[in-house]
Amino acid sequence: MAQFNLQNVEDFYEIGEILGSGHFGQVRELRERASGVSWAGKFVKLRRSVSSRLGLERKSVEREVEILQALQHTNIMALKDVFESRAEVVIVVELIRGGELFDFVAEKENLTEIEAIEFLKQILKGVAFMHSKQIAHFDLKPENIMLSDKKVEHPEIKIIDFGLAQRLTPGEEYRSLCGTPQYIGPEVINYEPLSVVLYLLLSGLSPFQGDTDEETLRNIVDMKYEFEEQYFSQTSDMAKDFIEKLLIKEPSERMTAEECLLHPWIKPLTRKQAANRSRSSINMKNFKKFNARRKWRMSYNMVWACNRLCRLQLLCKRAKEDEELRSCESDQEDIETKPASLIRRRLSSSS
Ligand code: ATP
Repeated sequence: MAQFNLQNVEDFYEIGEILGSGHFGQVRELRERASGVSWAGKFVKLRRSVSSRLGLERKSVEREVEILQALQHTNIMALKDVFESRAEVVIVVELIRGGELFDFVAEKENLTEIEAIEFLKQILKGVAFMHSKQIAHFDLKPENIMLSDKKVEHPEIKIIDFGLAQRLTPGEEYRSLCGTPQYIGPEVINYEPLSVVLYLLLSGLSPFQGDTDEETLRNIVDMKYEFEEQYFSQTSDMAKDFIEKLLIKEPSERMTAEECLLHPWIKPLTRKQAANRSRSSINMKNFKKFNARRKWRMSYNMVWACNRLCRLQLLCKRAKEDEELRSCESDQEDIETKPASLIRRRLSSSS
């Protein structure tokens, strides 16, 4: 079992404002008392018992920490320290001030493919590094792609949230999210939905979106998508080719992150290829619409999760009160049925 720092986090860091929250707790700004440097602290509530549905198993926190330790790369959020108390673990990481990449892009008037590629290249470098360490993120989505600082000329990408990441040992089984054991072939690592993130960025559309959830699921399973002219009229053929080489049903045939970095859309070989990218741009109008809907869905989910948590806490409180009431009632029954000497002994031992 990994040993975390058992000292009190507040002895070393001043706890500041909330930066975000996730399923298992909050992320807050931390100011290191000794140096005055700011960090971010992910406060994760630990599961108290096997049967509890609240909090995270210590084993899962250990996995997230162990993975972060192995991933020291400019485009991946860096780990600084880990503190542990009875009820929670605080994972101290580098503070990422620039917000989400998608929000940054949505604020712009326009974005050429060259500018989008600059970001994509950094995401690919982070992912390629991860994969070189046999680690898959498994939760690459717009919310987990952040910028270290959006005010600089060339903002730096930081991939965050390794809560679902897995170290994959070829030939060994691992448990997928739905709990079923899966055999790891070399292609499993190619499951990262990078192509979906890119398709969204270029068009503001989700590639497999159907009219119903069922249709969407079927499209995903069949890898059925198209480049609708009304959304992709500003997109270069090279960008489409790039997506096509990723959105392939058979994972072993998809480009790896390393191969992506060598595709001519990312690394043009001729002047013509390079020029194509500066003439093409992302569909800003649709992207802004998509991002606004995404933000709305996120806040809706957050309200839903808060309500659910409040209901759960209320239920726990009621169950505790019921239990207390029942134990009072049984004491009362005791008083009514047991001999006086026995009751005196019990009362004196509990006082
Ligand atoms: P989820 O429920 O999405 O899996 P989580 O509990 O694993 O979330 P994170 O995704 O790691 O938590 O963090 C939640 C939010 O906190 C992020 O969406 C982001 O807004 C913010 N955040 C996380 N890490 C940092 C950081 N290093 N610097 C600044 N903000 C951060």
